[in-house]
Amino acid sequence: MNTLSRRLGRGEGSVVGGWVGLAIDPQLVRALSRGREMILVSGTNGKTTTAEMLRRAWGDDTGGNRTGSNMTQGHVAALVNDPSPRMVLEVDEGYLGEIVAQAQPRAVVLLNLSRDQLDRAAEVRHLALKWREALRDVRGVVANANDPLVVYAAETARDVAWVRVPVEWRKDAASCPHCTRPLSYGPSGDWGCECGFARPASFVAELIDGSLSLGELTVPLELKVPGEVNRVNAVMALSALHTLGVDPENAARRLRDLDSVAGRYQTYPWRGRSVRLILAKNPAGFGEALRALEPGDEVWMAINSQIADGRDPSWLYDTDVSALAGRVVHCAGERRLDLATRLTYEGIEVRVMDQPSSTPVGEGRVSLVANYTAFREWRQMLERP
Ligand SMILES: [Zn+2]
Repeated sequence: MNTLSRRLGRGEGSVVGGWVGLAIDPQLVRALSRGREMILVSGTNGKTTTAEMLRRAWGDDTGGNRTGSNMTQGHVAALVNDPSPRMVLEVDEGYLGEIVAQAQPRAVVLLNLSRDQLDRAAEVRHLALKWREALRDVRGVVANANDPLVVYAAETARDVAWVRVPVEWRKDAASCPHCTRPLSYGPSGDWGCECGFARPASFVAELIDGSLSLGELTVPLELKVPGEVNRVNAVMALSALHTLGVDPENAARRLRDLDSVAGRYQTYPWRGRSVRLILAKNPAGFGEALRALEPGDEVWMAINSQIADGRDPSWLYDTDVSALAGRVVHCAGERRLDLATRLTYEGIEVRVMDQPSSTPVGEGRVSLVANYTAFREWRQMLERP
């Protein structure tokens, strides 16, 4: 931690952690950001993956908070421990204002806004309003034009680079954030309200037929991480880099080998089979994960309800599980019975796995979709030799 003291010009220090440092100097992020180029990434879903894509595609000497610690003390720790001249920081939605004000980022990437665990996170409209204040007159914002709450939040920024990427989840933006009248949605991701609030007409980039389209230029995306959701993440990352002058074709090439991010999408051997781990934490994220499942994979789902997951599992009833139609789903985790009940109501065939040792013997790959602490438990178990 001597680096911290040196960066602050306060001589050789002893042990100064992120918390202690902040207690000494609440403006620590400002000091540690000086002279470095920074990109911030926020949104309800896709932050960790998009941040990793940005780090790879921006080139060597790009660092960040790879451990996923995405609040202020995590940002301080990353900035202290990583001397890279370029940094990509994943930012918890509630902490965006604080870091934007201090870090003077080159770009702020806004992915999406939807409800998270209801008993833990702030209500999503309140967050959008907080962003709106935090982003007032901020430059370098790159934002998802198809998400009405993101547009509402970013409207106050200066010269926003809008990106058109599909948004399936609309339940948090049924009504207009300006006037509360119902929003209407068109078939190609367009949306609008009688009051005039509508998808921005101009945009810098869009996702078309699986490729990144930048006006005249079309850049094919060859990704190992699965699903439309990761094409969306890649388009957001590459669009942001494009606004900084990074060549999009070279940048896209650097994403080709990315096959897992902090255990997400990693495949592990397990009892003679291979299991691919997928993290999904809230209704929008689950819907996307389920739509991205490979047709041939057996599906296991693991749901816990610890503090980090949200104690209240009723969000399972907000989740669109129709992508599971015709499959047999193996239900695990503390809330396996709630999950099995939810899926049964939808007419989906279920098997309950009372413990990991009761996983079914079979052939072929398994996709295991798990929420936060269930994901962590399974990852530890699967990594055990
Ligand atoms: Zn309106």
